Amino acid sequence: MPNNALFYLTSNDMPLVSHADGIYIWDTTGRRYIDGCSGAITCNIGHNHPTVKRAMVEQLDKVAFSYRTQFESQVALDLANKMVDLTDADLQKVFFVGSGSEAVESAIKLAIQYFVAEGQPERSKFVSLRPSYHGSTMGALGLTGYEPLEAPYRSITIGSVKVPSPDLYRYREASVEEHIAAVLRQTEIAILAAGAETIAAIVLEPVGGASTGGRMVTRTYMEGMRALCDRYGCLLIMDEVLSGMGRTGAWFAYQHYGVAPDILALAKGLGSGYYPIAAMMAGKELVDAVGRSGGFMHGHTYAGNPLACATGLAVIDVMSSEKLVSNAAEQGAYLRRQLEQLAEKYDCIGNVRGIGLLQGVELVQDKVSKQPFPAAFNAFDRLTALAKGRGLLIYPRRCLNGLEGDHVLITPPLTVTASDIDDIIALFDGSLA
Ligand code: PMP
Repeated sequence: MPNNALFYLTSNDMPLVSHADGIYIWDTTGRRYIDGCSGAITCNIGHNHPTVKRAMVEQLDKVAFSYRTQFESQVALDLANKMVDLTDADLQKVFFVGSGSEAVESAIKLAIQYFVAEGQPERSKFVSLRPSYHGSTMGALGLTGYEPLEAPYRSITIGSVKVPSPDLYRYREASVEEHIAAVLRQTEIAILAAGAETIAAIVLEPVGGASTGGRMVTRTYMEGMRALCDRYGCLLIMDEVLSGMGRTGAWFAYQHYGVAPDILALAKGLGSGYYPIAAMMAGKELVDAVGRSGGFMHGHTYAGNPLACATGLAVIDVMSSEKLVSNAAEQGAYLRRQLEQLAEKYDCIGNVRGIGLLQGVELVQDKVSKQPFPAAFNAFDRLTALAKGRGLLIYPRRCLNGLEGDHVLITPPLTVTASDIDDIIALFDGSLA
């Protein structure tokens, strides 16, 4: 590939994308791939959807961009109201941004500005889980619990108090209840050690994505974390950048546990790959407190522009009219059963985990020891390359804590049918073999 000026292109084998439709994507040589991971767990409604294209063109014909200090747009108001209707929690205010990292960044700033407004400026520390991934900007990176990503910037990121993420899949000695109780205890000890009066928020993903390959927690854990926030006066921020917008078979992953956040970060599925749009949602009381003390001092130029909001609105319309949330639950359960059958067949599958169409497959040397493959073996990359060679895209991640196996995420668009899943499973089976 001559004169390649793209900074991140490391391999000359990377196919050039040509076009896409539904769950399929083609390269310029005419090869077809099943998008078994929705790009980066993003294209929730599939590719090339006519309703979204129409809505975007209609909006482009009117106005693509207007700046939020000069105009508000009806589509932004409509989208915000629609999103509030989708949640069943105290999350009546929506702040639009352009990426998941920006949504997390906004949540960090809102929490701090809230406590400044409340006369508690000392509350500026965050508690987050290890392993975890919250984004690539400095604030979000500071919360991220993954050593190689954080380490170079540790002296200049905000940092956070890292506490262990519950691991229902690997620990051996105790029951689930004992494990959860121990993790909650460790979290409380860490909060007290850091100074409970200095903590602004606990940040967590209700269902792990890239960091933990679809790891779930339990209702008791979520209730315990909520109780810690209430006991020590800090906020609960949930990062649903990946798990939100129907992916798990509920509009929001927190709904599986019946525990709601004070601030919610959303991204990927909201624009579904059609336009970068993300959002932070928060309670009215919280936002009003910040408003009384001068307003939320934060923003990005492109945030909440009419084209972005028209896209988000059309995506939600498609999700609702095509009943994609219930399809994610139904087809997710089918995908899970099929993956569990593969897990019985292959010794290298340590476990299958997740919910809805967010399913993770952990790769181990053998089922009994559940030892991870050596890092140099790159199990996640190998399997992903084998699958891609067969025409299936899956999402690979190296294990983040060095204790468990690498994993791949199987997260097709929420439009998948059972027969699409059969195709995905057949290609995945061949790749594992
Ligand atoms: N939080 C989570 C849970 C994510 O999965 C991601 C992206 N993988 C981000 C934040 C960052 O989102 P973005 O890449 O859009 O900045």
